[in-house]
Amino acid sequence: MKGEKHFFSPFEFHMEAGMRIAGTEINLAFKAFEVYVSGCKAPHCKGCHNAELWTFNVGDCWNAEKGKTLEDKASELHSVGLADYVWILGGEPLDQNLDDLQDLIRRMIHAGLKTVLWTHYYSIPEEIASLIDYVKVGPYIEGKESYNEPVFGVKLANPEQKIYSIEDYRNVERNG
Ligand code: SF4
Repeated sequence: MKGEKHFFSPFEFHMEAGMRIAGTEINLAFKAFEVYVSGCKAPHCKGCHNAELWTFNVGDCWNAEKGKTLEDKASELHSVGLADYVWILGGEPLDQNLDDLQDLIRRMIHAGLKTVLWTHYYSIPEEIASLIDYVKVGPYIEGKESYNEPVFGVKLANPEQKIYSIEDYRNVERNG
């Protein structure tokens, strides 16, 4: 975003290899189906709590079968009232094969979930921005933890991080 610190551009790191899903969890407090992707390019956030997901080799390869399994699970969670959102986390979602990432997001939308992307970048490729409802941007920085008021109910780790509806993200990008 204009006027904000840029770590580096995700566009440089569009991976040719396929995405892998490291695991899923259900976050009952936020009614969120959490999907963790494997892989995060250096430079890494200082004090990262997910260093085991820096490698791109953890978990199941993304393919039609895996996509259907996750879509069915998301759909079921939504239908019984346990999930209204999908949180896509990592690792770093924007270091993945973006075709696979789009497929994942579309399947979650099809399952009835609102989509939330968690990234340490500040800029989002348009093909991803056009699909998501919310985005959390900015790196984790050890030693800069703060106690900011929650935004959308989420307490972010430090002032470098922001969470936006996609409309607000676009406004900040436009206006700097
Ligand atoms: S983006 Fe996530 S996985 Fe990557 S270094 Fe930062 S906190 Fe760790």
